[in-house]
Amino acid sequence: MGEYKQMYINGEWVSAESGETIQIVNPATGEVVGSAAFGDDRDAKKAIEAAHEAFGSWSRLTARERSKYLYTLSELVKKSRDELAGIISAEMGKPLGEAKGEVLGAADNFVWYAEEAKRVYGETIPSSVPNKRIMVLRQPVGVVGAITPWNFPVNMVARKIAPALAAGCTVVLKPAEATPLSAIRLFELIEQAGFPKGVVNLVIGKPELIGQEFIENPKLSKIGFTGSTRVGKLLMEGAAKQVKRVSMELGGHAPFIVFPDADLDAAVKGLFESKFRNSGQMCICTNRLYVHEDVADAFTEKLVERLKRAKVGDGRLKETEIGPLVNERALNKVLEHIADAKEKGGQVVYGGSRLTEGEYANGFYCEPTVITGVTEAMKISQEETFGPVVPLVRFTDEAEVVRQANNTRYGLAAYVYTRDNQRCFRMAEQLEYGIVGINDGAPTQTQAPFGGFKESGIGREGGRYGMDEYLETKFVSFGI
Ligand code: ADP
Repeated sequence: MGEYKQMYINGEWVSAESGETIQIVNPATGEVVGSAAFGDDRDAKKAIEAAHEAFGSWSRLTARERSKYLYTLSELVKKSRDELAGIISAEMGKPLGEAKGEVLGAADNFVWYAEEAKRVYGETIPSSVPNKRIMVLRQPVGVVGAITPWNFPVNMVARKIAPALAAGCTVVLKPAEATPLSAIRLFELIEQAGFPKGVVNLVIGKPELIGQEFIENPKLSKIGFTGSTRVGKLLMEGAAKQVKRVSMELGGHAPFIVFPDADLDAAVKGLFESKFRNSGQMCICTNRLYVHEDVADAFTEKLVERLKRAKVGDGRLKETEIGPLVNERALNKVLEHIADAKEKGGQVVYGGSRLTEGEYANGFYCEPTVITGVTEAMKISQEETFGPVVPLVRFTDEAEVVRQANNTRYGLAAYVYTRDNQRCFRMAEQLEYGIVGINDGAPTQTQAPFGGFKESGIGREGGRYGMDEYLETKFVSFGI
């Protein structure tokens, strides 16, 4: 059944004020893998108080001192790789190999920002008048409320709290309801790393109530969010009332374009990574595949061959390449997109159904699926599918495919496969996306900026850009 775990507020492990708890279910098997305290705005308020109280001394530590805590945490996370990966896989179903990679990514974020903490440089600017001096300081924004999703339950946390803590902010984290157990394990490591009480707090519970407290409590200065565009907009609207700072990593609808001069094997490999990793549940996942008419048949054949070899199953088993969807709602959305595409003339050339027999009986599994004859009128061309379905569109003209690729309210990631250098540059410049992978289906790295154009978000995570999100710029004018 798994253990009952608490929240972490002001350096103490506590139950919810309400006494409520939540059970966490493994989407591969339907079994309960643990339970956790499930709080609300009252717990969030306590955590914000604690973070506010801790802010003064934490922000006044030298960067080198803050850095040491982050280094220690990075080492602890690395050492706990297998254990954390096991929890991630049991909570949300991703294959163990991917979960281990995620944990190492989190450790890399902690170490990166341990370094970056030391490089928060200000500036002096020549004055227009002789008796003044201009100095620019960079200071932490204050208490940060971080809200994270279930698809990368450890690394999404790291990508927010590492730069925030490095900058001198204190944090209240609210993880997704589906995946509190990995966040709790991470916080046990945070405790072990010796962070002073109140600097990093964990509140698990009702999203609307906790979100509202983040919006309304004047002691909280900034909201860092990764999740749906719908909730991101709600939070932005709410944050506007106090002009709170926001960073938003929202939905995506990535095009993946294969030109006739592409290395087709590399393109299939890239597509597989960008579409089937995490069972298609990433905001940078391919959601539309455009293949040039001349190579469409050959590409489809190679893709189907690859999918035939992909083992779908429980993420905890070594041979699994594609896990289940996170829950029934997620599965139903994917099936609805497939049904809608079929209804509007799409042809399913591979997969297309829920898996229900034998080992799949109690889980939320969808076959890896390829649909051809896809048009812009289909749901799958407009909404984020968040599942292992490839909608394939044939094209002939470069300008037209760029128009189609950009024809969405999203703008997170786009992928292009071509061996023509000039085309590489044209695509990099013309695609209205925050991340463009050229002959690269897995472009994320700790030190690179990650974030979206248009309704895919505001701000960037990663590298020095991620640090900027947690810093204010202060101009000091000295009269001398
Ligand atoms: P998804 O549909 O992928 O779960 P959500 O945007 O619903 O995406 O969830 C992402 C995170 O946002 C989760 O931690 C979730 O609990 C939280 N969340 C959902 N609704 C709200 C809300 N109204 N206010 C604040 N956070 C919310």
